[in-house]
Amino acid sequence: MNLKQLISHCKEYGFIFQSSEIYDGLAAVYDYGPLGIELKNNIKQYWWKSMVQMHQNIVGIDSSIFMHPKTWEASGHVDAFNDPLIDNKDSKKRYRADQLIESYVGKIEAKSQKDIDKASAKFGDAFDEVQFRSTNNRIIDRQTKIDYALNAMNKFLASEDMEGLKNLIEELEIACPESGSRNWTEVRQFNLMFSTQLGNISGEESKLYLRPETAQGIFVNFLNVQKSSRQKIPFGIAQIGKAFRNEIVARQFIFRMREFEQMEMQFFVRPGEEMKWYEYWKESRMKWHKALGTPEDHLNFHNHENLAHYANAAVDIEFKFPFGFRELEGIHSRTDFDLLSHQELSGKKLQYFDPELNENYVPYVVETSIGCDRMFLSQMSMALQEETVPDANGKESTRVVAKLHPALAPVKAAVLPLVKNKEELVNAASDVYNKLKKDFICQYDEKDAIGRRYRRQDAIGTPFSITIDFETLENNTVTIRERDSMDQQRIPIEQLNKRISEVTSINNIL
Ligand code: ATP
Repeated sequence: MNLKQLISHCKEYGFIFQSSEIYDGLAAVYDYGPLGIELKNNIKQYWWKSMVQMHQNIVGIDSSIFMHPKTWEASGHVDAFNDPLIDNKDSKKRYRADQLIESYVGKIEAKSQKDIDKASAKFGDAFDEVQFRSTNNRIIDRQTKIDYALNAMNKFLASEDMEGLKNLIEELEIACPESGSRNWTEVRQFNLMFSTQLGNISGEESKLYLRPETAQGIFVNFLNVQKSSRQKIPFGIAQIGKAFRNEIVARQFIFRMREFEQMEMQFFVRPGEEMKWYEYWKESRMKWHKALGTPEDHLNFHNHENLAHYANAAVDIEFKFPFGFRELEGIHSRTDFDLLSHQELSGKKLQYFDPELNENYVPYVVETSIGCDRMFLSQMSMALQEETVPDANGKESTRVVAKLHPALAPVKAAVLPLVKNKEELVNAASDVYNKLKKDFICQYDEKDAIGRRYRRQDAIGTPFSITIDFETLENNTVTIRERDSMDQQRIPIEQLNKRISEVTSINNIL
């Protein structure tokens, strides 16, 4: 399914709505509907259980969105949380300069990929992509162009040379995707933090920011948490919460939002041991993704060439979204940058006494940071499929099925009386529903023919549909239909609970 179809599916079934839709919406802000919130909660639960519940040395917090304004001076966000933006004078559209260059590169790479696909189809098993890339003249020429553009861009970004970026866009003859013109403004730095006022005092003194990342709430609480939970280094603090960024180019549905949710964990380690833990968390987080059944070819590591001001190593876990490989999660070795800056600006010591080394130090930090909404999009885009299957009469029909991992599926089981006008069946089905609802999110549905009800459940990813029929009244058995295989089995009612939890429990993937 493409992104457009995914967006309309999410709306139709109550996963995600545009915020304030009746007022024509608010750009890059979205609301989660009845099924969306369940899926999102399951994602959070999977993360929280894996991080906090499964690690004795990781504890959770829930810090405020508002923080003392000095926090953002210390973290560098006031000075350095900027995107380079450029406007097209004809279309009046605003772009991130680096993204314009990246999409120019993407287009060149797509041409090469086409040639590679063609050659691969022609030569079959004998095709060697590495050799083809290094010998085909057209591909070599394109690669030279790509390397030139990326090297120049990285150089200008690192030195914050906005004029250089503008000149590069002109030199590469990049046109506005909307107007097709090359009539650009200068490139300007734009701070991504939203600000507001504290109480009724105006001016810089009372300026508050909506946090652009949850991490700083962890750093400023580092000693409170360490002391109160008696943790010893290495240990981690985890948090799930909202973050806000005034993204210039907010497209691609919930991939880039202005209000979003992060799941972040800061792991505090001895100075000098950060690379060991960086490698550890890199592997551990990749395993977390794969445990959901995400195929290898949908996940990538992408090392950062431009390191943020606070990092000495950084890698993204990229996912193959409908619009290509993009960052899903970041793993960053943040050194002692944040704690040291907070220590300096607040005048309060943020040191840890290491009893084994008998010494005080400011710990180093390895961070894992994943966007809950991006995780949602990754799961939905992988799950939604259109399939040709036989219908009840054995004829071919199409079904839309959300093959979500059963542990993430919003509804675990649907309880369906075969027909709705037989009181005994309806009563028996209500009994089953009332029993199961204590342990699982279930839906009771008696409207329409059974085949249509199955299709509705397929479309929202329900792993099991349980049908109560006349045989149920005789021997207390039901048919249980499995979403992906569509296999149906008769089992006793008392086995339902075990059967559903065996497949849908998050514990299976921890
Ligand atoms: P990008 O390069 O895509 O802007 P980033 O490198 O700024 O992302 P981080 O600051 O590392 O992102 O944030 C950690 C995670 O938070 C990201 O991996 C992503 O999953 C999520 N995230 C960041 N910005 C957004 C956003 N605007 N909307 C949704 N999720 C986001």
